[in-house]
Amino acid sequence: MPFYLKCPHCQHPQVIPHARRGRTRFCRQCGRAFMTSKVVNIAYPLPIASMAELHAHASPRRNGRVLVA
Ligand SMILES: [Zn+2]
Repeated sequence: MPFYLKCPHCQHPQVIPHARRGRTRFCRQCGRAFMTSKVVNIAYPLPIASMAELHAHASPRRNGRVLVA
């Protein structure tokens, strides 16, 4: 079932569908990213602010930004 949590950046309430647990979400209020947990109703803030940065963050090349042409 869906669950509720607050954005770790701005405390805006979020509804997370069950299928999206453990995935990265972007806050509708502040647009910043957080990772939801599969087991507890909390969210971890992620230091990214866009889908491009999300891909860079997930890249094995962690030192510096990955340039997207
Ligand atoms: Zn937020």
